[in-house]
Amino acid sequence: MQVHTDHEHTHGEGCGHTAVRHDGHTDYLHDGHLHHQKEDGTIEEHVLPVTDANPAEHNAHDAEHPETHEHGPGCGHEPVPHGDHTDYLVDGHLHHPHEGHCDDHGPVEVVG
Ligand SMILES: [Zn+2]
Ligand SMILES: [Zn+2]
Ligand SMILES: [Zn+2]
Ligand SMILES: [Zn+2]
Ligand SMILES: [Zn+2]
Ligand SMILES: [Zn+2]
Ligand SMILES: [Zn+2]
Repeated sequence: MQVHTDHEHTHGEGCGHTAVRHDGHTDYLHDGHLHHQKEDGTIEEHVLPVTDANPAEHNAHDAEHPETHEHGPGCGHEPVPHGDHTDYLVDGHLHHPHEGHCDDHGPVEVVG
């Protein structure tokens, strides 16, 4: 498990980061990472696992954004680590840019 030692921000309700449910706990999307803050303040790096509900496969879908939208750094959607790649959070779903279209890697439960 990767741990942050120089993390100066305290994640919590209303901290300004998007909170998501993961495996029974709450994590925060922070600079493209999924941060889990333990009670002692330690920050762990979490990654959403590839599962039946969140498959990492080609699965083109009708996007909830213009077809011409290309996800990437600064595209306006929150990056989310999923398996060995980065997805983007759109309306509670993981979107994965793939050869000019958008794959749907399943739902994410956004808290709050
Ligand atoms: Zn935060
Ligand atoms: Zn987690
Ligand atoms: Zn953080
Ligand atoms: Zn695809
Ligand atoms: Zn985007
Ligand atoms: Zn994905
Ligand atoms: Zn998309």
